[in-house]
Amino acid sequence: MNKRIIAGQLLQEIATGVCGLVPGAVVIQDERITDIIEGEIPASADAGGLQALICPGFIDAHLHLPQFDIVGAHGLPLLDWLSGVTFPAEQRWDDPAFAAGMTRCAARRLLASGTVSFASYATVHHEATKAAMQCVEALGMKAAVGQVLMNRNAIPELCRSTSQLLQEAASLADAFPPESRVEFAVTPRFAVTCTEDLLIGAGALAAEKGALIQTHLAETVPECQKVDELFGGVSYVNVYRNANLLSGKSVLGHGVHLDTHDLMLLHEANSVVAHCPVANSFLGSGAMNRSGLQRHGVRLALGSDIGAGYEISMVRVARAMIETAAATGDAFPSAAEAWHLITAGNADALGWSEVGRLRVGASADLLVVQPDIPWLSGGIDPLAMLMFGWNDRWISQTLIRGHCCFRQG
Ligand SMILES: [Zn+2]
Repeated sequence: MNKRIIAGQLLQEIATGVCGLVPGAVVIQDERITDIIEGEIPASADAGGLQALICPGFIDAHLHLPQFDIVGAHGLPLLDWLSGVTFPAEQRWDDPAFAAGMTRCAARRLLASGTVSFASYATVHHEATKAAMQCVEALGMKAAVGQVLMNRNAIPELCRSTSQLLQEAASLADAFPPESRVEFAVTPRFAVTCTEDLLIGAGALAAEKGALIQTHLAETVPECQKVDELFGGVSYVNVYRNANLLSGKSVLGHGVHLDTHDLMLLHEANSVVAHCPVANSFLGSGAMNRSGLQRHGVRLALGSDIGAGYEISMVRVARAMIETAAATGDAFPSAAEAWHLITAGNADALGWSEVGRLRVGASADLLVVQPDIPWLSGGIDPLAMLMFGWNDRWISQTLIRGHCCFRQG
């Protein structure tokens, strides 16, 4: 591929966990970033310009591909929303062609919103999960996708035997190993819909294959009570810990209702909690105590949790994180930290080194953003201006491996 130069204000990590702006250019060749030039913004660039933001594509650490069509089912708490809205929708993935079509639509919407990489749940359907993964692979996106493991407390059409689920998951783990662009994630939905033997099998499979683990944890109080009932009073975190599901490769969605002991265990395991503020407010699940998790050294990621989350844009999810913290009187992150979280921070949380940063050698997965506000005129933090005034239509191009896969207009 010919060399291309993309110029503008580069979003760069300027200190640990903090992004800043550096004028310059990114040189792309053969799908990778081959050089970063800092200082001047060259007038001869192929894309960008003096007022452009050039940033790594956004990464979503928690979403559900089969739920893109049910966004907005408002007014139900989690367990009713699952049985009344989500499970009927996920049944449609019984047809792998439907799953592939839906994945293509979802990916198009993600790319138009600047999200180039994600960790996603599929459904319990093996063939549909495979079809979705092949579809994401064909688009070139970096992603982790998991067949949902579920053997109880769901409609019968969505429950499978433990042995069938583990066998199918193992075959997908072999077909999509951790080093591949689309990797398999061991994905027990949550403790309510999994028996102990399934959780233990999932933990063993993840260890054997070196796979990512994703599941939900302590999203709502009734869910926590149900887990307590089902597992004879063993704490939610310990249910996962006992099944070897807590490791440095575990991404646990939500973590809203956790006590100090839970946080210590999560820290000890080096596991990640994927904060999903939009979904939490939508389902009335509660507000995560973000700074409390940070104080205990728990690693954090950020997710849209589509379809309980209704915001596809990771910038607006980041804004919701700031607003949630502010509304609960919690210390809130700066825009510079929030920009870091939806790019390099989520990449680190998912163990991905090829995306999330503008650096030499990385895959050229990046955004050319042309804001129509005077964000560089001084006086106000430009990254805060972008975050709070964000408009998806500012994204003029989304590049995956150096190829333009979305263009505005
Ligand atoms: Zn979720």
